[in-house]
Amino acid sequence: MLLSLMYHHINCDKFSNELEIFKAHLEYLVDNYNIVIPNDTLSNKQENLCITFDDAYYDFYYYVFPLLKEYNIKAVLAVPTGLIDEQTTASHTQRLSLTHQEIYQEKNYRKFGSFCTWGELKEMSDSGYVVMASHSHKHKDLASSDIDLYQEIVTSKEILEQKLLLPIESFILPFGRYNKDSISLLKEHYKYIFKVGQGINRNFNGVNGLIYRIDGDGVDNIATLFSSKRMIKYKIKSLIKYFYDGIQK
Ligand SMILES: [Zn+2]
Repeated sequence: MLLSLMYHHINCDKFSNELEIFKAHLEYLVDNYNIVIPNDTLSNKQENLCITFDDAYYDFYYYVFPLLKEYNIKAVLAVPTGLIDEQTTASHTQRLSLTHQEIYQEKNYRKFGSFCTWGELKEMSDSGYVVMASHSHKHKDLASSDIDLYQEIVTSKEILEQKLLLPIESFILPFGRYNKDSISLLKEHYKYIFKVGQGINRNFNGVNGLIYRIDGDGVDNIATLFSSKRMIKYKIKSLIKYFYDGIQK
């Protein structure tokens, strides 16, 4: 069995956990799960869990990357390639200063350096502790009809591969949204496709090709996410997804 968690920020107002709480999450996860990334062999003795962070904010580089090294575990980072800059002139304090909403207002993220730079992404990728996934190019809803699907799905992968000099095999759906056209293009170009969805997966093939992720933001006590009641709920949801998607095919 494979569980996957979705996070966004550390120490931010929304979509976030405080640093101390996130450390407690990691301690719990390391004690109770076999922490894996795509292409790892899953354990039969222990339950497997994949940690993912969306959007590649600077707070990931600053807070999470050192913790991954400390605990010696790996995580997946979802990168919207069109929002990443080569460099930033913003100070460290500025880069951590904006709320989640403020980051996106009038493209504040460019001025404040809210996302990781390409240099930071390359450093993390080279370390082996962080596996990069495409998170589209402009962080677009892939169910919408007025977007350039090729750019969001294929160009974003090409950019990541050119910058990081590694094959990119994972895609994390922005807003968890897709349609028939986007999913078929995604399946053509990626081995692993993640989405939010409070579900449980048998392995990295996910449920009908989609790996469901449980929301880990704003969770004071992580053990509550894995209570037996919740686990039953995740299993039922995954079964519904399995059969519902099956009918749609
Ligand atoms: Zn996102």
